[in-house]
Amino acid sequence: MMVQYLELKAKAQDCLLFYRMGDFFELFFDDAKNAAEALDIALTSRGAHNGDPIPMCGVPVHSAEGYLARLIKAGFRVAIAEQTETPEQAKERGGSKALVTRDIVRYVTAGTLTEESLLDARSNNMIVALAFTADGMALAAADISTGYFELLEIESVDAAAQLARLGVKEVIMADGTDYDDKLAHILPHALQHVQVTHRPAAHFSSKAGEAAIKEYYGITTLDSFGGIGRSALAAAGGLLAYLAHVGQGKMPYLKAPYLFDDSAYMAIDQATRESLEIISTQDGQRKGSLLAEIDQSVTGAGARLLAQDLSLPLCQMEVINLRLELVNWFYDSGILRENIRAALKQIPDMARAMGRVVSGRASPRDLGQLRDGIGKSIMLKEQFGALDVRPKLLDQILPAFDGHGALYDILSRALIESPPTDSSNGGYIAAGYDAALDELRNISTNARRAIAALEQKYKEATGVTSLKIKHNAVLGYFVEVPAKHGDVLMQADSGFAHRQTMAGAVRFNSPELHEEAMQIISAGTHSIAAEAAHLEDLIAQILTRRDAIIALADALARIDVAQSHASKAALSNWTQPILRDDIYLDIIGGRHPVVEASLKGSKEQFVANDCGLFPEKRLWLVSGPNMGGKSTFLRQNALIILLAQAGAFVPAKSAEIGIVDRLFSRVGASDNLARGRSTFMVEMVETAAILTQATSKSFVILDEVGRGTSTYDGLAIAWAVVEAIHDMNQCRCLFATHYHELSRLSDRLGAMSLHHVRAKEWKGDLILLHELAEGPADRSYGIAVASLAGLPAPVVGRAKNVLDQLEEGRVATGGIAAGLGELPLFSAALDAAEAKVDRLREKLSDLDIDALSPREALDLLYELKQQA
Ligand code: ADP
Repeated sequence: MMVQYLELKAKAQDCLLFYRMGDFFELFFDDAKNAAEALDIALTSRGAHNGDPIPMCGVPVHSAEGYLARLIKAGFRVAIAEQTETPEQAKERGGSKALVTRDIVRYVTAGTLTEESLLDARSNNMIVALAFTADGMALAAADISTGYFELLEIESVDAAAQLARLGVKEVIMADGTDYDDKLAHILPHALQHVQVTHRPAAHFSSKAGEAAIKEYYGITTLDSFGGIGRSALAAAGGLLAYLAHVGQGKMPYLKAPYLFDDSAYMAIDQATRESLEIISTQDGQRKGSLLAEIDQSVTGAGARLLAQDLSLPLCQMEVINLRLELVNWFYDSGILRENIRAALKQIPDMARAMGRVVSGRASPRDLGQLRDGIGKSIMLKEQFGALDVRPKLLDQILPAFDGHGALYDILSRALIESPPTDSSNGGYIAAGYDAALDELRNISTNARRAIAALEQKYKEATGVTSLKIKHNAVLGYFVEVPAKHGDVLMQADSGFAHRQTMAGAVRFNSPELHEEAMQIISAGTHSIAAEAAHLEDLIAQILTRRDAIIALADALARIDVAQSHASKAALSNWTQPILRDDIYLDIIGGRHPVVEASLKGSKEQFVANDCGLFPEKRLWLVSGPNMGGKSTFLRQNALIILLAQAGAFVPAKSAEIGIVDRLFSRVGASDNLARGRSTFMVEMVETAAILTQATSKSFVILDEVGRGTSTYDGLAIAWAVVEAIHDMNQCRCLFATHYHELSRLSDRLGAMSLHHVRAKEWKGDLILLHELAEGPADRSYGIAVASLAGLPAPVVGRAKNVLDQLEEGRVATGGIAAGLGELPLFSAALDAAEAKVDRLREKLSDLDIDALSPREALDLLYELKQQA
């Protein structure tokens, strides 16, 4: 057995090997030690290997899923080795001592789960293959529990953003992937909570990818998928080969690959996603995120789509408006909304059930879920159909509800009302579906009745009224009498044959009982086989309609998301945003959904604030005391834009928004020390990304840039960044700062305006009003905030003295920004740099190289170098 075990283990080096023995999965050696520790179960030992006892632990097969879930969560992979023949078959093959053959039937990894109990119903479970080819980098992403499949060619700098968007659980890369410094720099953080698996490099080639896609979809050309680039093919190759490996040949369901089109979506980099806490908070919790705050969906599929929408806000006005129209339709009618919510609540997770059907792991319960889902959808469609006014998006998705009637009828007739998860005992095919099966069941029922009648007959014949006919797994049916009556039945002519003597009872068999029991066994075996055949047939019929069923599940999810937005808007008094195509932002009475919710129950009220950004006034400098509400204000405007472009209503009185192509947030000094970079370094890297990538259609929020260094450095950097955003990027931007000196910039920068969060001191106390007002802040209130925070009174008093001295000095010398009056404009500096480049370019293009002597050429090079 150990030889067999070690052979299997060699195929699963990086996994825990679950080795099936009867009703248990056993683990040995280090696997056993690791699993016992992770699961907190007993570690025992068995036999010996090279003289040492072999550590061992085990989990019962029937509860294995729960243990698997914990092991996967703890970061392990598991290989499942099943018995591939019965002990009887083994005996027939190789005699009584023959070992049952076993093989690995599946690898269970974080990114390849399909079981309901191992998955979070409300979030996607993404696996991503990364490929690096001469043509560039690409990723292939899939959620095999729902069939989502996406291909995307990316710039390596965007890799982390894409992994963050997808919320990846497992990444696969080629062995020895040679990724350049830049990538190595970005990816490790994105991969922190992700299982990374290395696979043979040969799988990650465009050739292998093309072949794998053709084979999977049974096609001879890729034309129908549009142009898939070579690196995307390589990523697909890596992914499909891995899925074949983990399923040991059983492929999961994948829709036709979606060629991800960057330009259709608002670009959001990883730092921005984290800082805005869209899907999860900075410490990884769902609670406290924007998603958790707005989620009013009632199905798992709806919750997953909602998360996907928030991760991928749109850039195309028509598509956004289609979504908004549907939301508004639900918003307008509370009755409709309640009806839809009630109907959706009864619809099981069809996408996930389908995922299991395609992976060959379907249970009768999954088929029951598909039946119920289809049935309820048909009713829902009738409700929608009866309404006169329907939004366009609904009309676009309603056809997905058609054509399921025949399958629904078959499943309804074939299955009992609540089919079990375990198919091995039968009992899930409904009566009346198959006459032969009904007959077999009749035989069983009749035999059971006959046995009941036998009991009565034997009682009368023997006179032992306590005689009973019982059943257990070892003996089957038997007659049992208390020990004191045993002699009566022992008599040679009694017709009973002795089987077993227990402490208080004696057990017998009889020819009649044997006869009936055989009937039950044989009918039982036949009916289980008949049910299994029906199950297979039903699965085959479902598979022919898999794309249509998935389309229906997707349509239901879209409806759930729309009703969720409408319900949230009705609950929290949100409004429909108006989108436009120019550089514009006019938010009246905007609120931060999460901060507002956190104030609920306290005596504080959230103070709504306006924000207006237009071509001629597109940059707001926001100052004011710490804790005054600056970053809340910055974020709330970013979130409102994000929600609007995701097709949701927004927390504001009104909102008119020019579509944003890229959203950037550099807010607060998040603790990135884990990344091995200082806070200041991270801040500068992120600011650099904004300055190089923000376009005039982008929206940027920047908070306290330059805080992490000395005052002079910090002010200098903040100054230059504001100028660059104003003159170079020309994007809409909210810039919060505590450097008063920056307000001087308003003289020079025409599209910038000054704002502050209001505060007042009252009887020595500081009152933060959280209210935006025009103009610069009159003072910073730093000492007042410090006192509010409980800094001891003597320290506060001393700080006041120091401040007075400093302020005196500032008045006398002009303060730290004293020298800035002479500074030429940033645009002038830009112009000067450009003029220089122009001059060099001109000189080079005028040059007649062939007319130069070597000496002249050398002189010219020196001259150019000096001018550069
Ligand atoms: P700052 O960035 O100016 O230091 P924050 O935006 O972090 O201030 O806000 C500090 C706290 O003030 C928040 O945690 C919240 O409790 C409260 N706050 C912020 N904005 C508002 C508002 N508009 N209405 C009510 N309370 C607010």
